Formats: sequence, structure tokens, C-alpha cells
Amino acid sequence: MNVAHVFRSFFRRTFEKICNLFFPVTCPFCEKPMPRLYPGYCSDCHKELWRLREKTCSVCGMRFSNPDMPSPICADCRGHRFPYVSITAPVSYNRKSVKNAVLSFKFGGKIGNFRPFGVMMSLAVKKQFSGVPFDYITYIPSRLKRMKQRGFCPPELLAEELSHQLSLPYIGTLKKIRDTRHQSTLSIKERRTNLKDAFICTKPEQVSGKTILLVDDVVTTGSSLKECAKTLRRAGAKKVYCVTFARTEKPRGEFTADVFEPYDEYSILP
Ligand SMILES: [Zn+2]
Ligand SMILES: [Zn+2]
Repeated sequence: MNVAHVFRSFFRRTFEKICNLFFPVTCPFCEKPMPRLYPGYCSDCHKELWRLREKTCSVCGMRFSNPDMPSPICADCRGHRFPYVSITAPVSYNRKSVKNAVLSFKFGGKIGNFRPFGVMMSLAVKKQFSGVPFDYITYIPSRLKRMKQRGFCPPELLAEELSHQLSLPYIGTLKKIRDTRHQSTLSIKERRTNLKDAFICTKPEQVSGKTILLVDDVVTTGSSLKECAKTLRRAGAKKVYCVTFARTEKPRGEFTADVFEPYDEYSILP
């Protein structure tokens, strides 16, 4: 983490604490006023939305349609190799209150939502990746056009809060070298080619041999996480784990192999 990151994070935190004295934060999901900046969401919403009480696939992080599944890996992931070890996410993007909170964060000016989102993500990492010796956190860079329009990169803010919660540095190691079409408008096949070679690793010397926690805001098919994890692995990363705030879930019992786009070509990776 560079000095600019540390100062920016410190000043932002101090400024928010002062603002919090006069303007209480509200729960991003139900809008109830919260007395403190942390955790920034109410316990009722936590109880209601936390999805990791149920057993999830140890690779893609989907909840099992049958909780008595004997294997920790779902049928869609079994037998395939992925550039990451595992994906986890504390809440489901299928929940309306989650979707509204994410859209308000990314497009509606509620930038402060990155604090409660980051707290929930840190709890998910502690639960699902307990004991993993992470070297640092990195994040998926935003599209160039979006960065210019919005002025901030949502995954970078989430990485900043995770860094605070997990006492790990965060470092920008990836760069998007071309603008791509918006993933949500494309089919699964188009998503894969849309992102192909769209990212480069800017700091291979800091990536080589490292165990990295890769951050994004929402995972749907996982195409962006796969492409970025692949870029990091090709730059020499030892292991990549992924955490996002929310996960789009298929209705129970409708998990299909093509949703996960298994990347068999990753068998060339070390
Ligand atoms: Zn709430
Ligand atoms: Zn799976």
C-alpha cells in the first residue's frame, strides 16, 4: 500500500467520523438511522441477508440446492480448473434491498455504502478463508469511461475498507487496457470474449509468488474475476481468492454448467 493510499484512507475516515456526529448514517438496506459509522448496517438486515449460514460450493460460492451434498464442490465446478481457488460473497444480489443498496453506491451518490459492504465482506473472508496467509488485497479496475464519469472505482473503495478490517495492505496491480461492452448486456459466450486480454498486470514483481485476495462488487457469471485471476496467475501469483459484496444466484435446482464457463485452458497454469 503506498503512502497516498494511507493518507487518503486516514483523511476520509476522519472526515466521515466528524460528519457522523451531525448526520447519522443509515442502514443501506432498510434506511434505519445508525448511531455509529461501524458496522453501518442494522442487525435485523444482517440476520435477514447473511447467506453464508448455508453450505456453499468451495469454488464458485453458490449455495447448494441440496444442503446435504456430500462433496464441498458443486457439480458445475467439479473436474474443472479455475484460475482462482474460491469465490465468496456475504449477501445475494437477488435480494431487492441488496440490489438497491449496490445501485445507490455505484450510481446514486451513496458512496459511503462501501463501509458497511466492506465490513460484511471482511466477515465473509474470516469465515470462508480462515487461516489463508494473504499477502495483500487487490481489486478489479473499473472501465476507463466509467472511471472518468463516476470519479471513483467501486472495487477499490471496497478493497480500502477490507484492508482496514483485515489489517492487510491493498495494492492496485491490474489495469484495464481497453474499454469493453457492459457485461450485463451480453450473453455468456460474448462475456468471455468481451473481456479476453482486457487486463494487464502492472506490478508483476509484486505479484510473483503471492497469495492474493481479489475484490469486486458483484459476481454474476464470474467472467471478470476469472479474467483478472488469470492475469495475476500468469504474472506469477501463487494463489488467488476472490471476495465480492454480493452474488447473483440462480434459482435453486437450476444450476447449469454453462453459467460457470469452466476454464479448462487454465490447466497450463502452474
Ligand atoms: Zn437495516
Ligand atoms: Zn461450484
